[in-house]
Amino acid sequence: MTSFDSFAMVDWSGGNDTGPRPRKDAIWACVVRKGRAEEPIYLRNRKIAEQWLHNLIADEIASGRRLFLGFDFPFGYPKGFAHALTGSDDPLRLWEWFEERIEDTPKANNRFDLAGEINRRFSCRGPFWFNGLQRDIDGLPKNKSDYHNPFPDRRSVELNPEAKGSFTCWQMGGTGAVGGQIMTGLPVLARLRRVFAGKVSVWPFEALDTPVAFVEIWPSLTLGAGPEGRIKDAWQVEQVAMSLAGMPPEELAGHLNVTAAEEGWILGVSQHKPDIAPPPLRNDCFALPAGVNWTPVDDALALLRQRLTVVTATEMVALPKATGRILAEDIIAKRSNPPQPNTAVDGYGFAGAAPEGPQVMPLHPGRAAAGIPFDGLVPEGHALRVLTGAALPAGVDTVILEEDVTVQDNHIAFHGPLKQGANTRRAGEDVTEGDLVLPAGRRLTPADLALLSATGIAKVLVRKTLRVAVLSTGDELVEPGKSAGPGQIFDANRPMLLSLIDRLGFQPVDMGRVSDDREDLRARLNSAAKQADVILTSGGASAGDEDHVSALLREAGAMQEWRIALKPGRPLALGLWDGTPVFGLPGNPVAAMVCTLIFARPALGLMAGEGWQDPQGFDLPAAFEKRKKPGRREYLRARVRDGRAEVFASEGSGRISGLSWAEGLVEIEDGARHIKPGDMVRFIPYGSFGL
Ligand code: AMP
Ligand code: MG
Repeated sequence: MTSFDSFAMVDWSGGNDTGPRPRKDAIWACVVRKGRAEEPIYLRNRKIAEQWLHNLIADEIASGRRLFLGFDFPFGYPKGFAHALTGSDDPLRLWEWFEERIEDTPKANNRFDLAGEINRRFSCRGPFWFNGLQRDIDGLPKNKSDYHNPFPDRRSVELNPEAKGSFTCWQMGGTGAVGGQIMTGLPVLARLRRVFAGKVSVWPFEALDTPVAFVEIWPSLTLGAGPEGRIKDAWQVEQVAMSLAGMPPEELAGHLNVTAAEEGWILGVSQHKPDIAPPPLRNDCFALPAGVNWTPVDDALALLRQRLTVVTATEMVALPKATGRILAEDIIAKRSNPPQPNTAVDGYGFAGAAPEGPQVMPLHPGRAAAGIPFDGLVPEGHALRVLTGAALPAGVDTVILEEDVTVQDNHIAFHGPLKQGANTRRAGEDVTEGDLVLPAGRRLTPADLALLSATGIAKVLVRKTLRVAVLSTGDELVEPGKSAGPGQIFDANRPMLLSLIDRLGFQPVDMGRVSDDREDLRARLNSAAKQADVILTSGGASAGDEDHVSALLREAGAMQEWRIALKPGRPLALGLWDGTPVFGLPGNPVAAMVCTLIFARPALGLMAGEGWQDPQGFDLPAAFEKRKKPGRREYLRARVRDGRAEVFASEGSGRISGLSWAEGLVEIEDGARHIKPGDMVRFIPYGSFGL
């Protein structure tokens, strides 16, 4: 239940009576009732403030209005403090504990003495510090030179970068300090809570199912000092009350939806649920239907799509760091674009349409430019100089292009007709506040950053980057750059796969090479499973004597040999190693690359949180002839020249030069085909795979 009828915000103070004349750093409050703001109220001391709060709560309850009551001091202390004093983690017990001990009058209170008394239970060097009195207090350090705090310095909420600039609960005085406000504030709240027992609930410790909610706010979270001539405290409580009163209930509910049992929270600071990775994949996720010999490509893809799930946790990143990252939640516009109606051109603005024929209008003094609005009203029949991007001033809804106008003797002349609204942009014509801007799963592009910025989004919740381990297997492999003996070849797959993973927007993890030795391979897989979310191996995936990848996966009981009806490609060993999915790719570089693009890539995308991505191909006339038997799908190394698809002269799957020559793949369907030059074939550029 988060809709309220009245919103009252209170800016608290731990100081003494501030006299009859309204002044800053005193207690200020502002009420917005049924959407109407009252004048901010000056409350010169806490006794008066408590009485005022009492009356407000009683009135609102009596009138059947739900009251949201915000206070600008912490409702709880950092972890462990409540328990140390009261034997309970419940912050509301701590409220009562303070209420029993704080003596407060308009002219004096014992908060520094109580801070000293508390410190004497610990090291006498903390947790509290700062003494605002003339006399020394045993146990209360005046400054932080020998300070020692047995508790955390800050609450979790204060560690959030959004709460930058907040003060700790431990500082008892000095400009901006809140230590004194809490100690003098909590006893007042504790009493009100008792007087109105059952009618008041405290956020975020209790369910807000009563007529009155006490909520911790911090106006400086979003507000500066305010306009000149206004008392900051008065202005801030008014602004916060109006903004919360005007907020859609769903949005307010979103802000109120936090869990912070002991320490409390500041309304408006975002809280992200603990960063727990989603559950691992099921052991049987790669199981193929029994009795099937050769699995068609589409069936294999459908299986992967159906079985695999997101495996990455989430994190918040600032917009400049978000390119290429995958959104973990839907993004809703915080602001319309454009935020207000404005002119699309440099020219002259006036009201209404201009009829056919010559027009003359007196020029109104002043101008409106982007970021420098024109304050006054443009009188009917007058025109004002406007520059591109300027907010339309009152009295202007139509703009004539500067090039179409002659200016003379303080008048403009042009030829009609001109439609009403010409050359202007409507507020929100691009995006309206509250619109879905980008969906979860979107991989952010540079243009997306522009869209997010324009709609008021400064940081986004994204998926952690999927870590993909790459491992080569084979006794014959030598590291490029080393000398290769007879029978040895350089490891070509690993550099290719690592770079491919990087290009696809995942994080490559180089697991090196391993010889055809089962124990070595086992150790390497163990280590890869710890460091990565997915493992790609190449080589050793068939059923031969030296095919240890498939042997080990089979031994682990979570292996499937995928005999996919595909050329080039078979075999593909899919399995889970210690819960981590393994794609056992064929050793032939051409097959390794094709299998990665066709199978691993969409699977990785799904696990990374970007959803299933089908590569976009298009049909082109062939520049080649080919006969193909039915039974399996084929991918040919291809490129486009003069609008026709050429294919590499040799289909040998060890021909690495062809991979490099190609700029994409021609996909030939599973059935039989006789392709003649000029026949249409499907070409998928490497770019469509995200390369
Ligand atoms: P395998 O799948 O292990 O039977 O290997 C099939 C073919 O691919 C053999 O000719 C291997 O020598 C070759 N091969 C395996 N791994 C690589 C690699 N990392 N770089 C280049 N060729 C490889
Ligand atoms: Mg091998």
